[in-house]
Amino acid sequence: MGEVILLVALLVCAAHVLTFAAPRETKRRIGVIVVDIQGDFTTAKAGSLAVEGTDQSFIDKAEKAASSLMRKGYVIFATQDWHPSDHISFYTNHSGKNAFDVIRINGRTQVLWPPHCVQNTENANVLLDRELFQAIVKKGKDKRFDSYSGFKDDGGATTEMDALLKRHGIRELIIYGIATDYCVKATAIDAADAGYKVTVIEGLCRGVDPQTTAVALQEMKERGINLEKELRG
Ligand SMILES: [Zn+2]
Repeated sequence: MGEVILLVALLVCAAHVLTFAAPRETKRRIGVIVVDIQGDFTTAKAGSLAVEGTDQSFIDKAEKAASSLMRKGYVIFATQDWHPSDHISFYTNHSGKNAFDVIRINGRTQVLWPPHCVQNTENANVLLDRELFQAIVKKGKDKRFDSYSGFKDDGGATTEMDALLKRHGIRELIIYGIATDYCVKATAIDAADAGYKVTVIEGLCRGVDPQTTAVALQEMKERGINLEKELRG
């Protein structure tokens, strides 16, 4: 009889431990990807490819959100566009072309951008406090391929993002940053395709163009990505 009571007592204790442990474990599985909040994409740093609405108040808002999520136990990552100066996406590397021209290269559509986020330049820096990030994943390092996505480039080469997320047991992601219609969209769609449950926070994103941003939001929704206007709580 005494053994039975002891066993029941142990089971009750174990159940309590599990009850208390569960919410923390759940939180630990949620990751955050802050996409490309770098000097060249912001008006705050007079970037070469500054997106509207990216003044210091936007950067502060994005940083505050990451900081608050970190305090809640979320694991925070960033992506960083990191191009060599002879990168294929720069219009200056295509004679006779202008910024924002759209060309075809080996069957792929390529938007030609002003040179931006050149490796080791001031405006390639991520503007949020680096202490927030578990890791900063660089992308677009191969001069032959663009890489809007934080997961893989247009040539199919993967970054370390998926392995990093898996190492942390992450199944769910909150994604925000610049730009909604390019790198946020591509990163969110690749994350969803890789099986993560994805939420994009619209109020913490900025788009290059209102029309392509609206299309991008619709496309993300159709791919099963959850869209939230602002961060909850
Ligand atoms: Zn780029």
